[in-house]
Amino acid sequence: MNEDTSRLLGLAGLAVTRVEDGPDGPVVYLVTADDQARRCPHCGTRARRSKGWRVTRPRDLAVGGRHPRLVWRKHRWRCDESGCPRKSFTETVAQVPARKRLTLRLRTSAGAAIADGGRTIVQSARDHHVSWPVAAAAFATHAAAVLPAQPDPVQVLGIDEIRRGRPKWVWDETTGTWQTTVDRWHVGFVDLSGGQGLLGQVEGRNAAVVCDWLAERTQAWRDAVRFVAIDMCTIFKSAVRQALPGAVLVADHFHIVQLANQTVTEIRRRVTVQVRGRRGRKGNREWELRNRLTRNASRMHGDHVADLEGELKDLPPRIGTPILAAWNAKEDLLDLLALARTHPNREDIADLLFRFYHRCAQSGLPELERLATTVETWWPEILAFIHTGITNAGSEGTNRVIKTVARDAYGFRNPANQRLRTRCATTRRARGHLSPR
Ligand SMILES: [Zn+2]
Repeated sequence: MNEDTSRLLGLAGLAVTRVEDGPDGPVVYLVTADDQARRCPHCGTRARRSKGWRVTRPRDLAVGGRHPRLVWRKHRWRCDESGCPRKSFTETVAQVPARKRLTLRLRTSAGAAIADGGRTIVQSARDHHVSWPVAAAAFATHAAAVLPAQPDPVQVLGIDEIRRGRPKWVWDETTGTWQTTVDRWHVGFVDLSGGQGLLGQVEGRNAAVVCDWLAERTQAWRDAVRFVAIDMCTIFKSAVRQALPGAVLVADHFHIVQLANQTVTEIRRRVTVQVRGRRGRKGNREWELRNRLTRNASRMHGDHVADLEGELKDLPPRIGTPILAAWNAKEDLLDLLALARTHPNREDIADLLFRFYHRCAQSGLPELERLATTVETWWPEILAFIHTGITNAGSEGTNRVIKTVARDAYGFRNPANQRLRTRCATTRRARGHLSPR
C-alpha cells in the first residue's frame, strides 16, 4: 500500500498498491480501502466470505498530463444474511459505481467541459480519451443536474423563432421545383424579466408547439406571466391568447422597425424598375443611398438627414417622391416607437399615429397602405410596447448565442442535445458570467 500515491490519485475508497510504467503510460494497481464496500448493497450486512476476485479497469482523468491505466482488483462477496435475495456482490465505491467503466470525476469533467466550458462533444471526447457517445451522455447527465427541470415563475416572457441550420435544397423532379430538406425551426421561450435566460426550446413553428410548451407549465406559472413579447406573427398571437389569456401581448420593437425598413426597400426597388426599366446599380443615387435610407434618422447627424432629403428631391420625381414618402412614413413610425419609456400622454401618441396614417394614405403607395394596415392590426400590441418598453432584445441575444453554439456545434446534430447546450450557454450568460444585454 502506498499512502502518498493514493493521496495523489485522490480516488476515495481506493488505495494504490503499486505503479508501473506501461507502454501507454503508468499502470496504477488499486485495492479497495473502504469498509463500506464490503456491505451488501441490498441488506447492508457486512460480508464475511469471499467468492473470489474481479479485476476492473475504470478509465480516469489525466494525472500530471498523463492518462494512467487503473487496474482495480476487488472482492466478490457472498451475502450470508438469510432471506436476502442478493446472493453475491462485487465491491463498489462512489467514484466507480457498479458496472461503470469510467470514474465519476472523469464523466463529470467530460460533461462540464461541454456544458460550462464551451467545448464541443467531439473536443471533450478527445480531451478526455472517451468515445463520442460517452461524452454526449456525460453532457446530458451534467446538464440535467445543473438546469432546473421547471423554470421559476416569469413575469415577462419572450417568444421568438429561430431557424436551425442552413436549409439544404434538393431538386424535386415530380413538381419541377427546389425543395428544402432541412428546414427546422425552433421556438424559444425566454425569461425577459428575471435572470433565467432561455427557458426552453421546441421544434416547429406552429401554435400547437407553443401551446404544448405552455401547457407543460403549472397553472400558477401561467398565471404569473403578465407580458409576452412576440414577433408580429399571428401564429404566436393566437397561441398566447389561448394559453395565457390573462397576459398582455407586446409586439417586438425590432420586428416593427424591420417591417418599416423592408417597406422602404420594396418601394425603392419598385420605382427604380418602373422608371429605369431595370434594377438599381452603381450610378443610381437611390441605390447608393439604400443603406442610409434604412438607418434611423435620430442616430444620424442633422446635416446628413438634410442631405438625404435634398438628394431624394434632386432625383427624378417619379423616383424621389415615393422614396421620400416611404422614408418619412418609416421615420414617423420610429418617432412613435421612440415614445416608449417616456411616459407619453394619450394625445402625443394619437398625434404621431395620425401623422403616420395620414402620410401613408396621402402617398397613394400600396406598400405604405399595407404597412398602415399592419400597424392598425397590431396597434394594441404596439401600444403595449410604447407603454412598457418591453422588447425581445434579450431573446434576440439568445438567438445569437444559439447561432454561435450551432456554428461550433460539430456533434450537436441531435436537436435535443443542441437545445440542452443552448440552455446551458444562455443560463450561464444570464447568471452574469458574460455580460448580457
Ligand atoms: Zn444482502
